[in-house]
Amino acid sequence: MKIIPIFNTFIHPSAKDNVNAVLSSTFLSEGKLVKEFETRLSSDLGIVNPLALNSGTSALHLAIVLAGVKPGDEVICPAQTFVATALVVCQEKAIPVFADIKYEDGNIDPKSIEEKITERTKAIIAVHWGGNPCDMDEIHAIAGKHNLMVIEDAAHAPGATYKGKPIGAISDFTCFSFQAIKHITTGDGGAICCLDDKMAEEALKRRWFGINRANSPLSVLGERVYDITEVGYKYHLNDYAAALGLANLEGFKDRLMYRQKLVDRYRDGLAEVSGITLFKKSEDRESANWLFGFHVEKREDFILALKAQGITASVVHDGIDHNSLFGGTRKDLVNQLKFNETQIHIPIHDAMKGDDVDYILNVVKKGW
Ligand SMILES: *Cc1c(COP(=O)(O)O)cnc(C)c1O
Repeated sequence: MKIIPIFNTFIHPSAKDNVNAVLSSTFLSEGKLVKEFETRLSSDLGIVNPLALNSGTSALHLAIVLAGVKPGDEVICPAQTFVATALVVCQEKAIPVFADIKYEDGNIDPKSIEEKITERTKAIIAVHWGGNPCDMDEIHAIAGKHNLMVIEDAAHAPGATYKGKPIGAISDFTCFSFQAIKHITTGDGGAICCLDDKMAEEALKRRWFGINRANSPLSVLGERVYDITEVGYKYHLNDYAAALGLANLEGFKDRLMYRQKLVDRYRDGLAEVSGITLFKKSEDRESANWLFGFHVEKREDFILALKAQGITASVVHDGIDHNSLFGGTRKDLVNQLKFNETQIHIPIHDAMKGDDVDYILNVVKKGW
């Protein structure tokens, strides 16, 4: 029987040599390969001022700090995400306020954002669920009206575009993840993009203890000369991770196009299947297709029917509001509650072949 997992970890064939060279050099920490990785991220993805970090969560946390979120402030985000999105708000003793999503695609609903704004609201986090960009124009209009910072959690969305613009070149802050099962992995890793150059400089300092590395020369005594003025973090990426990231950037555009082909095949094949409602696709944006999801009737039967044929189907994440730390399930998130009941995702990744899609389509079409 075929076994088709829902995710894979993509490691480019050139990665072993790349990483080996770093190990041989014994220069493991942040150095020229991190810089090179950032330059390539910027040129290959068209993203602004990318700074490589040790995780996507670090990127989100740094964005919250740089956005000026203080204890007691409120940050509006969707519940349809991984817990990291809201945890970073709690790390600053601020309050995550969950806005509802749109049932059709799982992305935050701008109308709901507006309803959640109070005098304490400081920022909005938009999560591009599965790689499909949120309604950024509407979100920016609201942010502009209320003087709020916009942070994009683009963990699923490297390479995605919104009205022709790359995700990573639109909002105050955009955060990417290079965790093992994301599109471009460095083992663990992430990046923060700051639209504002001054902010990017600040991010550079804060990712390394609040020390400006370029302007902290070694003294005669053998220690760097610096003066810490703000709280900094140990959030930088290291060179052997960057070596893996650089290898994995090879052919990234082709991998995205391949994912799109798989999605097109899925959408054609599933369009007329009763019991399935595909997520909405908008013509003005291109998804990075990290996930392929839809709504399904009799979900548990569906999952078990696929499992019996070696195929993993998963919700990936349900609304995170249910966690005690975040205050428990919000009854007012009507679409989120509905989404929790019907959403499902089936395999899409680099290791899949076209006939894997046909195999899955056949299994689904037999019914559940
Ligand atoms: C993976 C992920 C993160 C966290 O990224 P890490 O690199 O694992 O810290 C944040 N948000 C979303 C939506 C994610 O999927």
